Amino acid sequence: MALKIREKMVPMPEQNPEVRRYNFDEVPLGYTEEMAMEEANRCLQCKKPTCIEGCPVGVNIKVFIKYIKEGDFEAAIRKIKETNSLPAITGRVCPQETQCQGRCVLGKRFEPCAIGRLERFVADWEREKGNLEIEEIKEKTGMCVAVIGSGPAGLTVAGDLIKLGHDVTIFEALHKPGGVLIYGIPEFRLPKEIVEHEVNYLRRLGVEIRTDEVIGKTLTIEEMLKEEGYDAVFIGTGAGAPRFLNVPGENLNGVYSANEYLTRCNLMKAYQFPESLTPIKTGKRVAIIGGGNVAMDAARTALRLGAQESIIIYRRAREQMPAREEEIHHAEEEGVIFKYLTNPVKFIGNERREVVAMECIEMELGEPDESGRRRPMPVEGSEFLVDVDTVVIAIGNYPNPLIPNTTPGLEVTRWGTIKVDETTGATSIKGVYAGGDVVTGAATVISAMGAGKRAAKAIHNYLIEKKEGI
Ligand code: FAD
Ligand code: SF4
Repeated sequence: MALKIREKMVPMPEQNPEVRRYNFDEVPLGYTEEMAMEEANRCLQCKKPTCIEGCPVGVNIKVFIKYIKEGDFEAAIRKIKETNSLPAITGRVCPQETQCQGRCVLGKRFEPCAIGRLERFVADWEREKGNLEIEEIKEKTGMCVAVIGSGPAGLTVAGDLIKLGHDVTIFEALHKPGGVLIYGIPEFRLPKEIVEHEVNYLRRLGVEIRTDEVIGKTLTIEEMLKEEGYDAVFIGTGAGAPRFLNVPGENLNGVYSANEYLTRCNLMKAYQFPESLTPIKTGKRVAIIGGGNVAMDAARTALRLGAQESIIIYRRAREQMPAREEEIHHAEEEGVIFKYLTNPVKFIGNERREVVAMECIEMELGEPDESGRRRPMPVEGSEFLVDVDTVVIAIGNYPNPLIPNTTPGLEVTRWGTIKVDETTGATSIKGVYAGGDVVTGAATVISAMGAGKRAAKAIHNYLIEKKEGI
């Protein structure tokens, strides 16, 4: 008799939208052991586990789920960590629906297996258990590597290289390590305690972390290699420079880039002002311009800061929004208002130069553009005013040019991203590697980790050859 399969994923308990829109606590609450085992039971243990092909770091999903099924959570987390060093993070923020879960065989007939939720479950199980083992570190090689930037790319490179016996120092411009995981993604999606736990684990492995070090200002890559004695350098500085609309009034008070808005909240804890030192304009009517994950994060943050209305202004329709479906759904549940086919053309200020309104224009969709999505076109004469007291611009980011500008010979593309050999991350300078958003432009946590893994392998080979004088 055919085995009856549960058609839908085991639901993950969540904070009630009416409650959570007023607090910064995590929204999904995680599986219990029983829920995880029930969900793991849905996995077909396929002969051809296509889910693995969808994972940018190739986690052996089939086997870790089998261990969960059997109740051996220890073995499950070990299996994941063979290829993914940050599962508590990726289990929460990876776009699984387009990666592993998007390829799951079960998904052809029913809902796919909840791979991300299961990954998060075992990672949390291990952290909560508390007696985390320190992995084995190979004999010291005497070679040292400078890693610039402490986002997922830099953390991955540092972890992999320290375990191979090299000395590693991370240089981070901000006062806290973690990159976007700390300053960008809000607490209600990724508790900072989890990121700190991962960073502390690297410290326990022996990685030195130097914060408040802006490479290109305090020290250059040339100085690192020629004077400071580093044998190799990895650039993982991300894409943290915000794009603007370039319309009148964008420099009024109360108009933020999403980067600044979220950094003030996440890193500086501005929502605890005056206990924290950084203020933020909380705003009663907040408009967020953009339709990606960053826009959803800013809109949901605005609600938690006390906005009566948090309005997403997006120039295309819902179907074209690049944000994850789960993020849009959570924002809708919490009461974020969506205004589609709308674009701001001007911000209007009062005598104190504070933003009080914006002029918008209606849009319609034309032929597909180079992104494959239908191009938004303004509808002539359709301008209208929207009252706002705070605006957050979330239309994308690009890499900061500081390092290319201070590193002679470092080749960049016309988009300002660093040119590398895709398989190794090697740049145009010998001994200098790069990976993550600084190479691809704004992408994902797991793709930055994948690039970090490839670069760490190549750096290791380079260091061994250098040591042996090949
Ligand atoms: P980053 O995480 O950007 O880290 C770069 C680090 O380098 C930063 O700490 C920066 O301060 C430091 N740095 C920069 N210049 C210098 C310098 N000159 N000297 C020293 N240090 C320097 N991805 C997902 O997969 N899922 C999500 O849900 C998701 N949500 C997101 C939400 C927001 C608000 C944002 C902004 C991004 C989100 N992303 C998400 C994208 C993801 O976070 C990035 O793709 C990823 O963090 C890139 O990693 P990275 O290591 O390349 O760079
Ligand atoms: Fe399990 Fe889906 Fe992977 Fe098959 S494809 S092994 S059902 S997770």
